[in-house]
Amino acid sequence: MSRTDGRPTRKSRVTQATLVRKARALLAYKPADVSPQRRVQRRYTMRLWSVRHARFLEWFYARFADLFLTLHPLWNAIGYRRAEKPVKFVERNVKGLMFDCRMCGQCILSSTGMSCPMNCPKQLRNGPCGGVRANGNCEVEPDMPCVWVKAWEGSQKMRNHDAILAVQKPVDQSLRETSAWLRVTAQATAQREKARETA
Ligand code: SF4
Repeated sequence: MSRTDGRPTRKSRVTQATLVRKARALLAYKPADVSPQRRVQRRYTMRLWSVRHARFLEWFYARFADLFLTLHPLWNAIGYRRAEKPVKFVERNVKGLMFDCRMCGQCILSSTGMSCPMNCPKQLRNGPCGGVRANGNCEVEPDMPCVWVKAWEGSQKMRNHDAILAVQKPVDQSLRETSAWLRVTAQATAQREKARETA
């Protein structure tokens, strides 16, 4: 029996939590890890893996960018506009899985140690704010490692480790939800053609 103020009486001290615990003991399935803290940290597992393997990803991306550039006649034949939808779909899913990409359309992963700066709650593109915690985590999201602390770690593994020192332009919001892969390819092609004309 409960009191009118809602608190259990001395006789009915069986709380909801006790009932849940008893019911759980009867189940065959016992989860190995039910810590909410661990579960939150697991969300960052892939992006931290990418930072740890920044050198390999830098190498891989260089080859991938070359392949995309080689395919320029194909993109041209299809039309960059028409190619955008399927390319964007693949880009969103691959980079979403590996870097928690937010599709800013102006990718600077190769300058930030493969740590996406758009995951910073303040979306800072030129280094951390003054609120990094003593354990290297974010001041806004205490369970998340600061993306700029990770960016520095990742950049130091890369061949082009000084790229992180370059000052980045402010984000152009009009490029959100567009394909950075196609933009980089189109820019590289334009530069290549310009260089050919000058020569
Ligand atoms: S910098 Fe932009 S395009 Fe690159 S991973 Fe981050 S949100 Fe995606």
